[in-house]
Amino acid sequence: MNPVLDMAAAPDWQTGDMTPSSSGASRHEAHLREALALARESLEKGSSPIGAVLVDGSGKVIARGRNRVGEAQTAERVGDASVAHAEMDVFFQAGKLEDPQDLTLYTSLEPCLMCGGASALLEVGRIVWATADPWGGSGRLLAWSDHPAMQETDIVPCPLPELETEGASLFAPEAKRAFPDKGWALWREKYPEETEGVQAGQR
Ligand SMILES: [Zn+2]
Repeated sequence: MNPVLDMAAAPDWQTGDMTPSSSGASRHEAHLREALALARESLEKGSSPIGAVLVDGSGKVIARGRNRVGEAQTAERVGDASVAHAEMDVFFQAGKLEDPQDLTLYTSLEPCLMCGGASALLEVGRIVWATADPWGGSGRLLAWSDHPAMQETDIVPCPLPELETEGASLFAPEAKRAFPDKGWALWREKYPEETEGVQAGQR
């Protein structure tokens, strides 16, 4: 295994200037709730419970997406592939982005290295997520603040505790199913109440 990917000690995006601002957190609520609703839809369809929406500077949703790894690919939607993550679904739907610096990507779960990298490549102005992913999230492998492509992206992790809890409970069975023991251990440590007694999800 790549030693970087096997790294136990995580850089922490929750330190320094990456701490989410508590002021104005409620303006994120509706979009994070929609991302969580899309995550539940993925679960019902047999994919991983992760959803995302892309919002323009006026607050209008310009693309909606959700994880589709367990579903067939169609002409309209990426699917049936390990890369069919919610954020990639959003980006395929959105097509060529205009004024990406004015856009905010809302996700139910902290983006992985692929989706974080794609967001940076597309120059999305801000990323907001409901729940941290202490194993699969980019932050374990590369501090968001250190990513060379992320210097222009505003990162807002977990601005609303109630939704953070909701997202953790929703994803916990998938985390137990999909992650190795040490990944699940990180989830237990980060979200002890939400992971208590959780059984591995089925797909
Ligand atoms: Zn991803």
